[in-house]
Amino acid sequence: MAILLTGGAGFIGSHTLVELLNDGYDAIVMDNFSNASPEALSRVEELTGKSVKWYKADIQSREDLEKIFGENDIHEVINFASLKAVGESVEKPWEYYNNNIGGTLTLLDVMRKHGAKNFVFSSSATVYGDPAEIPITESCPKGTCTNPYGWTKWMQEQILLDMQKADPEWNVVILRYFNPIGAHPSGRIGENPSGRPNNLMPFITQVAVGKLPELGVFGDDYDTPDGTGVRDYLHVVDLAKAHVKAIDKLREKPGAFICNLGTGHGYSVLDLVKTFEKVNGIKIPYSIKPRRQGDIASCYCSPALAEKELHWVAEKGIEDMCRDSWNWQKNNPEGY
Ligand code: UDP
Repeated sequence: MAILLTGGAGFIGSHTLVELLNDGYDAIVMDNFSNASPEALSRVEELTGKSVKWYKADIQSREDLEKIFGENDIHEVINFASLKAVGESVEKPWEYYNNNIGGTLTLLDVMRKHGAKNFVFSSSATVYGDPAEIPITESCPKGTCTNPYGWTKWMQEQILLDMQKADPEWNVVILRYFNPIGAHPSGRIGENPSGRPNNLMPFITQVAVGKLPELGVFGDDYDTPDGTGVRDYLHVVDLAKAHVKAIDKLREKPGAFICNLGTGHGYSVLDLVKTFEKVNGIKIPYSIKPRRQGDIASCYCSPALAEKELHWVAEKGIEDMCRDSWNWQKNNPEGY
């Protein structure tokens, strides 16, 4: 009885794979390697001492999926396979809707044909739009997204909930991630964005390693303690462990379950920069730039439901995140 991780060679997928294998779960990976490397899987093997079964395959290919489901006894899927660059999604909406929504629809169809109706979905805090209340609880209404990437998450959630409603044999766990950063403490696996990073932490680590001259801080006139944007940063190893709990939850047959994953603490851009400098002893030059379009002032969650229902709490703090992100980057300046 295996768990299929689509996009399992990516940042969150590879860390989840480590936790699943370490806890004795049977996991299989598929990835099209459009934004990931098979090297990540070799390193997972090295970290866990277990061999990883993987396929180069695409969630948009029914043929690929039929082969994988035909060859393995898959009961659950964790769907990490997704395009995720906000800016790119504005330029290439069709590609985002096609891959994220089209791919998921194909995957769900093959799953139900094979009687594997258990699904963990990587959603995002972005579905709340400009949140109606902070800290954000799961009862906070979904909002208006500011880019096609966000809409794909928003719509995929709706598709999953409608399918589960129509066919109660489905069990669906929707995880709304806040801001995952950090890396495995070994420094062997981590975030490996292609091209210029969009997100804050990879940008900081690339400045630290000398690949980029300085960080641009997008706005210092928000209604936050220091004027810069506040987010709920979460260590990727904690996030990975939450997926193990999500599998346990699926096995309780919850029907549909939606849950925020964050620490519940908000840190500003400058908090993160200062903590990174302090923990790692490296100066991060920065300058204040205009606000980035679509950004909101503050976004952090209440993780109470995750604690109650998934029996999960984030154990690592902002210093661990800064230390482990740098440990990964400095040991792998060119990524994998
Ligand atoms: N940010 C920044 N400079 C960068 C990238 C991000 O100041 O080069 C800020 C961004 O405006 C937001 C925070 O860092 O306040 C987190 O942004 P990120 O893109 O990492 O995640 P988001 O919360 O937008 O998903």
